[in-house]
Parts: sequence; structure tokens; C-alpha cells
Amino acid sequence: MSLLAVPQARTSLEQPATWRILLVDDEPTQRLIMARLLKRAGYEVEVAGDGREALAKVEHGDYQLMITDWEMPEMDGVALCRALRAARDRAYVYIILLTARDAIEHVVAGLQAGADDYLIKPVAEPELIARLSTGKRIVTLERSLRAANEENRRLSITDALTGACNRRYLMERLPGEIERCARSGRALAVIMADVDHFKRINDAHGHLVGDEVLKAFCATVQAAMRSGDWVARYGGEEFVIVLPETDLASAARMAEDLRMRIDSAPIVLESGGLPVTASFGVAGWQGRVPHGVSMDALLARCDAGVYASKAAGRNRVTVLPLDE
Ligand code: GH3
Ligand code: MG
Ligand code: MG
Ligand code: MG
Repeated sequence: MSLLAVPQARTSLEQPATWRILLVDDEPTQRLIMARLLKRAGYEVEVAGDGREALAKVEHGDYQLMITDWEMPEMDGVALCRALRAARDRAYVYIILLTARDAIEHVVAGLQAGADDYLIKPVAEPELIARLSTGKRIVTLERSLRAANEENRRLSITDALTGACNRRYLMERLPGEIERCARSGRALAVIMADVDHFKRINDAHGHLVGDEVLKAFCATVQAAMRSGDWVARYGGEEFVIVLPETDLASAARMAEDLRMRIDSAPIVLESGGLPVTASFGVAGWQGRVPHGVSMDALLARCDAGVYASKAAGRNRVTVLPLDE
């Protein structure tokens, strides 16, 4: 395993700098009084006159909190709660339903629709402020959880040494990439690259220098990629570059370009320059990707290409089509 830096998890206290409330009520006077009160308490306040307007504002603005009336024209507060909860990909909005409806069945229906809290008008100012503090606590928790999850996901699919995608991600994503190109009638190609005599580098200069070479190698690969391409570390000193919507001839050119870049520029280390070469196997289709192709078949073809390049003397590219 590498002794070098593993990306640090971000500390994820995602407290917003300002708290934004969307205040939804169809009565202008009510809105005015409430907005003034909330601003006094330090909140940034936007208003909407009904559920539909509120939904549109949430779509375009970053609100952490919402206070909504129940009865409103167009879309009422309960329908608004339901609509917001149906959209799961959005950041969480903490919703307080503030209404004159005071029957138990209303409270139950409001909470079931997705409100986090239910307050009956008229509400005392200190209570409303305290309830909003609860909301801030929940939103802060939700945000830090979300950030931690995203960071964990990123770490779980990233190779810690090189920053490339890891093998797990390759296995997870490549079948979908093949299928996507097959569906849209596009080509797809994959380049496999294996550093030549890497063991010698380790033996001569030590494992840490070997690690630096892998990092530099990967950076060279990344610098040569176009948008849409992605690279994964397939094994110790083997990388797989996925080129969606790319025909075999273009992929072959890219592999040759990459081979030359690596061959012509020694990898620069603190201790000086180190010449490095790599052998490549390119597999893919001249035309569209047929349906039902397996990732294993594609990778096996790349592997065969690398093997042939090694057998022929290393530092070369072997191209193996899959559609003939
Ligand atoms: P060939 O040209 O035939 O590919 O020879 P090679 O020496 O590159 O290939 P071989 O498979 O014999 O050796 C690969 C070496 O890569 C062996 C292993 O110790 C080393 N290796 C694997 N992972 C890492 C790593 O993360 N860091 C370092 N420094 N070395 C690694
Ligand atoms: Mg109303
Ligand atoms: Mg190898
Ligand atoms: Mg090797």
C-alpha cells in the first residue's frame, strides 16, 4: 500500500452563512408582519403568495427553511409540502406549517404531508423563533450528513494514490457506459496502459519513487484526455482509459499520442528525471457498439493488446477491433 497522502475527509459543518426563509402566505398583512419579525431575528426572508409561487422560488433559490400557511389559492400548504417532499434530489427544506386550523386531524394531515412542524395561529414570537432554531439544527445535521455521504462516496470510488477512479468504479460504471453507447448507436473504445518494467523502478529507486512515478503517469494520462473520457487504476501499474463515443481509429491515435508523451518526457522527480515507457492495448469498435457486449470481453481484448505490445518489445500500441 502507498505510504503517501490519502485525501483527507473534509470536515463537514455545512452551516449556511445566512439562513434564508421562504414565507408563504396569501394574506399580505400577515406576510408583512411575519417578515418583519423574522428579519428582526436575523433571517433573510423571501415571500410567496401561494404554493405554486413558492415551488417556483424553491426551484431557483437556496432556502433552508419555509413557513407556510395552509389555506391559499392555487396550491395550498399541504399540497406544497407534498410537492417538496416528492423531489428527493434537492437539499432539504425544513417546513413549518403555520395555520389557523387547529383540529388534531389537521395537525396529523399536515405532518403526514411532509411538514416538519405544525404551529397554530396566532403564534407567540419567542415560540416561533425557538421552533426555527430547531429547524436550523435539523438542516445543519442534514447538510453535514449529506456532505459526509458525498465525501465517502467520492473516497470509495477514488484511487487514493493517483486520484484516478478505482477498479471498483470501473467495474460499476463501464457496463453502463457500454450499454449507453449501444443504445445511442455510438462507438466506444478503451485503452489499457501498463507501465513497462515497473518492478525495476521499484527495485532500483524504492517503492516511494515508484508511487511518484504512478502519480506522474496518471497525471500525464489525465492531461491527454478529452472531456467525457475517464481513467481508472485497474491494478498496480495498469490503467484503463474509457473513451465513450470514440471510434477505434481515434482511440488508437490517442494511445499513440500518449505513448509518445510518456516516452519523450522523463518523469520528473526531486531526485531527477526518470525515463518511463508504457505498453498499450486498445480495443473498441469501428462503428456502433452492438447490444449485449460484456465488459469482460472488452477488457480481455485490451489485455490481449497489452500482452501483444509487451511481447513485441514494449513501449508500443496494439489495436484490436471487436467488430470484425
Ligand atoms: P512489465 O513491463 O512486463 O509490465 O513488467 P513490470 O515490472 O511492470 O510488471 P510486474 O507485473 O512484474 O510488476 C509490477 C510491479 O508493480 C510489482 C508491484 O510490486 C508493483 N506495484 C503494484 N502496485 C504498486 C504501488 O501502488 N506502488 C508501487 N510503488 N509499486 C506497485
Ligand atoms: Mg391563507
Ligand atoms: Mg502489470
Ligand atoms: Mg508493467
